[in-house]
Amino acid sequence: MKGNITFTMIKPDATGKNLTGKILSMITEAGFTIRALKMTRLSKEQAEGFYAVHKDKPFFNDLVKFMTSGPVVAAILEKENAVESFRALIGATNPANAAEGTIRKLYASSVQENAVHGSDSDENAQIEASYFFSNLERF
Ligand code: ATP
Ligand code: MG
Repeated sequence: MKGNITFTMIKPDATGKNLTGKILSMITEAGFTIRALKMTRLSKEQAEGFYAVHKDKPFFNDLVKFMTSGPVVAAILEKENAVESFRALIGATNPANAAEGTIRKLYASSVQENAVHGSDSDENAQIEASYFFSNLERF
């Protein structure tokens, strides 16, 4: 059965362009309910931990530098089939390949500075949500 929770971050490129409100609005207009929300800045260690699966990739150091370059807005979102539905809303990793109307097509500027994160599985959604939010911060 598909889970109803996903985790997102509005990345430093998008918070830096003052796009937080527009992106949150697209998310709720698409039928997601915000169950947790915070603005924070990742430490190097937190960014490395979050993207640990990519630690052997050539872009890892740049990715960590980018993700710590400014604040992010982290959120837990609820909707039926949340992970797949949210990945459809954000579009492909590289905005050049993202479908019209998706968040990345509208707001990402490159494969690295791609505006938003979305969990890639139900299991990772739970892990990522717990990485950022305590039970007292989840509604
Ligand atoms: P995210 O996990 O942030 O939602 P994604 O699942 O679409 O993105 P991943 O393959 O998990 O893509 O890559 C994680 C992040 O690493 C990307 O969002 C992007 O910021 C960066 N990244 C991925 N591929 C590249 C690349 N070839 N060059 C530079 N940065 C990259
Ligand atoms: Mg990913």
